[in-house]
Amino acid sequence: MAAVMWFRRDLRLEDNVALKHALEGSDELFLLFHVNPDQFLGEGSINQAAFFKSVEIFREELKEKDATLHILYGDLKDCFIKLKKEFPGWSDVYINRDEKGYGLERDKLAGGLFKELGIKAHGYHDHHIHSAQEIKTNSGTYYKVFTPYFNKWKELQKPNVVDVKFDSKKMVEQPVFTEDENQFQSFLKRQVPVEDMQLGTQEAHRLLNDFVENHLSDYKEARDYPLKDATSHLSKHLRAGEISIRTVYDRVNRAESSIGKQTFIQELAWRDFYNMVYATHPDQKDVSINPSFRQVEWDNNEQNFGKWKEGQTGFPIVDAAMRQLKETGWMHNRLRMVTASFLTKDLLIDWKWGEKYFQETLNDYDPASNIGGWQWAASTGTDGVPYFRVFNPTTQSEKFDKNGSFIKKYVPELKSIDNKKIHEPSKLTAEEQAMFGVVIGEEYPGPIVSHKRSRELAIQAFEKSKKKTENMKAESPK
Ligand code: FAD
Repeated sequence: MAAVMWFRRDLRLEDNVALKHALEGSDELFLLFHVNPDQFLGEGSINQAAFFKSVEIFREELKEKDATLHILYGDLKDCFIKLKKEFPGWSDVYINRDEKGYGLERDKLAGGLFKELGIKAHGYHDHHIHSAQEIKTNSGTYYKVFTPYFNKWKELQKPNVVDVKFDSKKMVEQPVFTEDENQFQSFLKRQVPVEDMQLGTQEAHRLLNDFVENHLSDYKEARDYPLKDATSHLSKHLRAGEISIRTVYDRVNRAESSIGKQTFIQELAWRDFYNMVYATHPDQKDVSINPSFRQVEWDNNEQNFGKWKEGQTGFPIVDAAMRQLKETGWMHNRLRMVTASFLTKDLLIDWKWGEKYFQETLNDYDPASNIGGWQWAASTGTDGVPYFRVFNPTTQSEKFDKNGSFIKKYVPELKSIDNKKIHEPSKLTAEEQAMFGVVIGEEYPGPIVSHKRSRELAIQAFEKSKKKTENMKAESPK
C-alpha cells in the first residue's frame, strides 16, 4: 500500500507518532511538505525565515538518508489534487494533528478533501505531552487557572518516547514537482538572512544534553536572569518539531531530582495549558478572553509602538530586550513579560499589536504560547496577571540585571554608565552624562512616558472597562 506522510511542524525522523505509523502501515511512502502562500508573514519575518531554515535542514537530513522531502507549493486543495493525479497509487495519508488555530482549520479543510478523493486520513496526537482534551476538572469542564490544571497534569501517566524505524527503501522518489520546487527555492532566497541561527534535530539534542547536565538543577534560581542565559533554548526546536516534547520530558525526567527539574517540568505543562486554552477559546487571537477587559480604550499611539519595536523607549531593560529580539529572533522569558507589560500598561497599546509583532519576529513563535503569554501580561487572559499589578520596568531591571550587563550588551550607548545608574539614565546629571559619554535625549532617548503616571492611567482604563462591562450586562435584556 502506498501512502503520504505529510510533515508540518514535526520535522524529525525520531519519536514521531505519525511517521512511525506511516512506516508500519505502508510499503511505499511519499514524504511531503506543503508550502501554503496564504500563511506567509512577509519577507522581513525572522519567524518565517527560521521556520523554513528548519525545513531545509530537515530536507538535508533526509537527503543524507537517500530520501526526499517533496515540496508542493500553492493552494492546499490544488496541491493535493495534483499529487493524486501525478501519483494515483496513494490511498492513505498520515499526519500529526493540530488542535487549534490555523492548523486545525487546515486539517479540517484537508480532511474534507481527502474524503472527496477517497483517501484515508490517519491523525495522531504528537505535539504535546497531554492533548487539549485530556485534562478536565472532575465535573468535565476545562480548567481556567494553571495551578489546579497542573495538579491534575502531574498525576497523569506520561506518553513514552516512540521508536521510529526509518527505512529509505520504502521512500517514493517520483513524481518530482519541479515547478513547485523552483517556486520554493525562489521564496527561500527572499527571506531575511538567518545563517547564524543554529537549528535542526542534532542541535536540539546538543542543547537538551547541555541544559540537563549544566543548568537543570539551578533552573529555578537562574532562569529569571537574562544574562545568565540558563534556560534551555529548546523553544525554536519544539515549535518546528525538530525534537519531540516526549524526548525532552523523558530526558529531564530521568535526571536527578531537584527543584530545578520540578520547575522545568512545570514550564512544559504551561505549554500544554496554553494549547488547551487556545483549543477551548478558538477566537483568542482576536478577542480578549476575559470579557471584563474587552472594553479597554487603548491609546494605540503608532509612534510609541514604533519606539517600542526599535528599542528606543528610554527604559534600558525594555530597549535591550526589544533589540535582542530584533537582532536574534529570541527574547528571554522574563523580558517577554517585562516588554509585554510595558506595551500594554505603560503605553496602553492593544496586546494584539504586540502579539503580531512577536509573531513576525520570534524564531520560536508558537501561537498558543504567544497569545497565552500576551493575554497573561495584558491581564486579559484566563489566568492573567491582575490588572493592578503593573510591572515596574526599572525595578525589574534592578532585580534581574543588577549590574546592567545585559543592558550593556544590547544598548551599547549606555556601556560606560555606572552599574547602579544604568537602570534610569534619565536621572543622570549633566556632569554624569559627560563623564559616562552619553547625552540623554540625543544618543539615548529620555523615557517616552512616566511609569508612575502610566500605571495610574492603565489601572483606570482597566477599571473603566470592567465597569462598562458590568453596566452592559445589567442593561442587557435577560
Ligand atoms: P525554557 O525556560 O528552557 O523552557 C522550556 C520550554 O518550556 C520552552 O522551550 C517552552 O516550550 C516551554 N515554556 C517555557 N515557559 C513557557 C511559558 N510561559 N508558556 C508556554 N510554554 C513555556 N514560548 C514559545 O515557545 N513561543 C512563543 O511564541 C512564546 N511567546 C511568548 C510571549 C510572551 C509575551 C510571553 C510572556 C511568553 C512567551 N513564550 C513563548 C513563553 C516563554 O517565554 C518561552 O517558551 C521561553 O522563553 C523559551 O525559551 P526556552 O526554550 O529557553 O525556555
